[in-house]
Amino acid sequence: MNFSDLGLSAEVLRAVEDAGYKQPTPIQEQAIPVVLMGRDVLGCAQTGTGKTASFTLPMIDILASGRARARMPRTLVLEPTRELAAQVAEAFDVYGKHHKLTQALLVGGVSIGDQERKLDRGVDVLIATPGRMIDLFERGKILLSDVKILVIDEADRMLDMGFIPDIERIVGLLPRIRQTLFFSATMPPEIRRLADAFLMNPREITVAPPASPAATVQQNIVVVQPDQKRDVLRRLIQSENVKNALIFCNRKRDVDILNRSLKRHGLDVAALHGDMPQPKRTETLERFRNNEIRLLVCSDVAARGLDIESMSHVFNFDVPIHAEDYVHRIGRTGRAGREGRAFTLAAPEDGKFVQAIEQLIGKPIPPYAVPNVATAALTYEEGEGRGGGRGRGGRGRGRGRGGKPPSHAQPHAQPTHHKPAEHKPEHKERHAPRPAAAPPPRFAPVTMGPAQAAKPAAHHADEGGDDNRRVVGFGDDLPAFLARRGSRG
Ligand code: AMP
Repeated sequence: MNFSDLGLSAEVLRAVEDAGYKQPTPIQEQAIPVVLMGRDVLGCAQTGTGKTASFTLPMIDILASGRARARMPRTLVLEPTRELAAQVAEAFDVYGKHHKLTQALLVGGVSIGDQERKLDRGVDVLIATPGRMIDLFERGKILLSDVKILVIDEADRMLDMGFIPDIERIVGLLPRIRQTLFFSATMPPEIRRLADAFLMNPREITVAPPASPAATVQQNIVVVQPDQKRDVLRRLIQSENVKNALIFCNRKRDVDILNRSLKRHGLDVAALHGDMPQPKRTETLERFRNNEIRLLVCSDVAARGLDIESMSHVFNFDVPIHAEDYVHRIGRTGRAGREGRAFTLAAPEDGKFVQAIEQLIGKPIPPYAVPNVATAALTYEEGEGRGGGRGRGGRGRGRGRGGKPPSHAQPHAQPTHHKPAEHKPEHKERHAPRPAAAPPPRFAPVTMGPAQAAKPAAHHADEGGDDNRRVVGFGDDLPAFLARRGSRG
């Protein structure tokens, strides 16, 4: 099928051609005609499937007739993070370049004055994160009574970040007669319930995740003692032909530490995580996109949906605790059929987490020997390592192997000592293990993203992006009185 078969206008088709797209992706093929018909859509699709264009392209055509009135946006797109919201805004710019549509991006952390001025002039498309949207509504700066199309994107991520009450509130402010397009990577029962409440007779469209993880990403794992990781990382950066790379750490604090360390070694590097002020985040990302920075040390804020062209490498400085984060992280490279490289640096006690990842991706990650570095072996003991192995991915998924360690338990390079308990477990994981997984999603063949049934606690962590997931226990926020040892005398 061609784009021209979908009912889009000549102007939108021209923009699609300019973007270099030859054929619609499955979600575009199925969703675009339905959206143009004015029907609701329940799309089970994740980033990388082309879902953004599946709603932006027909919306542009629908919006081509009619005009926006002051403070009364005609359409509303809700996104869980600022980065994703910015990406959708960019998509409207790119695909709407032959139209005269106005849009406003309402995200936390940027000057509210500019956003208000735009709204005052009237916007066709309002792209917002839930927290800022509610703020503006409460200040009386926005009227939602003219919204004809509502898009809720990445609904499972919204659930994960505690935004569902906000979403319910926002939807309650919209006209009942409207078109709703609802996208989620997974369909746990809570998301299904929301979809039932928000949508009217929707067309359900489910597409497979993009060849996950991208077949074009060559993956390797290096198992070393934690105190060797920085050295190994630098060696890899040196020996590999790294054009640009994301380097993922599990904790924000470690992002800063690693960033400083790499800087000290003269590398061209910056940091990105959810605690940074939004202007700084935007600026850093922009510089990285423009190849002004070669390496970006980041938390999972950068893992989802970030679309940076031809990223040559992804390094996992830490093994992600949630197996699905691995897929999101390495999916930042090897995009659009390009070759990509992903290296994961694992400590011996990461065995369970590695096992869970391999279970998810359905194959072992081949070990990699860094010249002159003694590699270690993974250990798999229950109750050891980070957080006691109670991570969602760390439990259950490994069972399929009958408890047997995967092929690289004995790496081919100089297997060394095997001292699993020597390195202190990292107790204060910000990304605390999630609760046990809910029943498998109805549609998605791979359980991407959370499927918890519990009510999220992290309300209004305001779109920090990464570390806003519920924290079990205290996470990094350990009260000082608990941290003081022997304080009871
Ligand atoms: P998304 O799933 O919306 O995040 O899109 C993932 C990537 O696919 C983006 O870089 C889009 O520019 C790209 N893309 C979207 N539709 C197509 C298409 N029909 N052909 C090729 N690339 C596309």
